[in-house]
Amino acid sequence: MLVQGRHFETGEPVQVHIDGELIAAVEPLSGDDKELPWLAPGLFDIQVNGYGGIWFSRKDLTVEHVIQVCESLATRGISLFLPTLITASEQTLITAFQTLEQARRSSDLVNNCVVGYHLEGPWISKEDGPRGAHPREHVRPASVDEFLRLQHAAGGRIRLLTLAADCPGALDMIRHCHSTGVRTSIGHTAGTSSQIQAAASAGATLSTHLGNGAHGRLPRHPNYLWDQLADDRLWASVIADGHHLPDAVLKCVLKCKGPGKTILTCDVSGFAGCPPGTYREENVKAEVLTDGRLVVAGQRQFLAGSGATTGDCLIHMMRTCGITLPEAIQMTSSNPARFLDMSPNELKTGKPATLCAFQIAASDGGEPVAFQPVATYTNGRVFTG
Ligand SMILES: [Zn+2]
Repeated sequence: MLVQGRHFETGEPVQVHIDGELIAAVEPLSGDDKELPWLAPGLFDIQVNGYGGIWFSRKDLTVEHVIQVCESLATRGISLFLPTLITASEQTLITAFQTLEQARRSSDLVNNCVVGYHLEGPWISKEDGPRGAHPREHVRPASVDEFLRLQHAAGGRIRLLTLAADCPGALDMIRHCHSTGVRTSIGHTAGTSSQIQAAASAGATLSTHLGNGAHGRLPRHPNYLWDQLADDRLWASVIADGHHLPDAVLKCVLKCKGPGKTILTCDVSGFAGCPPGTYREENVKAEVLTDGRLVVAGQRQFLAGSGATTGDCLIHMMRTCGITLPEAIQMTSSNPARFLDMSPNELKTGKPATLCAFQIAASDGGEPVAFQPVATYTNGRVFTG
């Protein structure tokens, strides 16, 4: 199979030869066809809750649901992701992990796309604000024994754990994860400065969706946002969908962490991709608005997750922070891999044929306004919208 496009780093036209699951060659193409799509490694999102009405955390998740989400995301440029399970009862989490593992074992697509799992909760702050939309009744103290049971159900593939620095038992949990190669991230926290520092000293290396899952009002300083921004041991993930964070916050996070330690995530909701309307899942009742936003039903102020996908966040970050396309791809493809100690996908001979062809729609003034996937290749298998 041959794929033609402009290399995301150089802008030069190239032709990628795909042989089976691998890139057999990348060759320069003559001419300067500006109509060619961009070519870049496939997008990688470390926080995906579901898509198109399917939540990974739901009790009745099936293998077919998981395959459906992988296919939907692939048509939107996402080749790799971590299905994310949020705070729920231990039995619900175990059942969901077992189903995800069943899907991975029975589908090559799922096996290729799902490179691990992100467990977000249940060991988070109980306080309103930091708890976000996680159900309070299932928030509990951290337990290494419970983690071991969940990790067993997940086939040892929980690669990332988000927990609150102030959750009882957090430091033991972080140390345990650190010793077994599982990354830990501070999120949904109401931690003090010393708790944030202690979490990083114990081995936490990321702040999950920094600036969200936080109190509506905070002391001007000190507070856990400054503490995490200032700590160079912590990378940061941000939901750059244009709704979750003001542009100034995105700029500040980027300036503090730099393009090498910033990860863009869509944190996409299971309701994303659904037509406008009101939806209910477990205890969450949400509305999908005509502009794509997802809000708690009956009001317009509080978001109920993201309706955007990773490519939308990439474009928003380019527009608001003035970053280049290679930097945007770094934050949506290679950084997630490097953070998880995986080999990033690259447009190079011998690498997996996991790449994305896309156009960037621009305004009259030349600003990027929309990510338009043309085709996504996941280990050589092609998906088009
Ligand atoms: Zn969250």
